Amino acid sequence: MVIEKVYYENKEILEWKWASNNKLIPKPFYTSCFLVDGLLIDAGAPACINDLREFITDELNEKEINLCILTHTHEDHCGGAQMLQREFNIPIYAHEKAIEILKKESTYPEYRQITWGEKRLPVKTKILPSTIKSGSLDYGFEIFPMPGHAPDQIALIEKTQEWAFVADGIQPKYKMLFGASSDIQEDISVIYDSIKNLYNFTEHMKNLKIFISGHGLYKGREFLKKRLREINELHQKIHRLYKEEVKNYNNRQRVLKKVLKRAFKRETVIGKLTKGDLSTMNLIKSLLKWPL
Ligand SMILES: [Zn+2]
Repeated sequence: MVIEKVYYENKEILEWKWASNNKLIPKPFYTSCFLVDGLLIDAGAPACINDLREFITDELNEKEINLCILTHTHEDHCGGAQMLQREFNIPIYAHEKAIEILKKESTYPEYRQITWGEKRLPVKTKILPSTIKSGSLDYGFEIFPMPGHAPDQIALIEKTQEWAFVADGIQPKYKMLFGASSDIQEDISVIYDSIKNLYNFTEHMKNLKIFISGHGLYKGREFLKKRLREINELHQKIHRLYKEEVKNYNNRQRVLKKVLKRAFKRETVIGKLTKGDLSTMNLIKSLLKWPL
């Protein structure tokens, strides 16, 4: 495995990054847990349980984690939750839509097992209130719904510090991995609305810091504006290309392939490896489903 620790904001925030070192994965594909004043945001992947335990016992005082909040139900964010609860007695919170899903064990396609571990163990979680306090420093986190990547996706916002922990709610660039089958069903129009809502919500934050799982820190609301612009342009472009190509072919599959070729040249390696489960084609289909 590959583990990295990154500190931000005068060491107030610690990002614990974990990736599998499986040879089948071309470069480390990280998931992150963020620790802020006793609050652990996310619980890593099932395959990182031992490393997470070691990190807590060897590098943290056990008392340093007062609670854990799961940002959504994907296995790379809640894999260690059962262990944290059972072994460290840490209360686990999640969005109300996530509670029932998390109660059951979850299995998923093989490519995700290679990346994140065999299965996610069940965990009993508490419903997140709309705001939550962490440890001694009196930070208050607002729970901000950010559906699109997952229906139960949330962000945590600390207004006075101008921090937004968005997990997978925003990607640094919308170009490739996009889920449509299994339990990763993304919707680009909902993602767009979520980013727009966050942009509006953070209106008075001059120094907004956005923390994205696996990618770290992005500064300023301009980053959100750029994502909105990028998605908007892609939306227009894909519709335009589809309109052009639909005149040339009767077969929808052919049309879509042509659109993909013109917009992105080719499907990503991951798109092929996952048999389209996480692919650029899914992004195109989601953009087309979204009326102009
Ligand atoms: Zn996710």
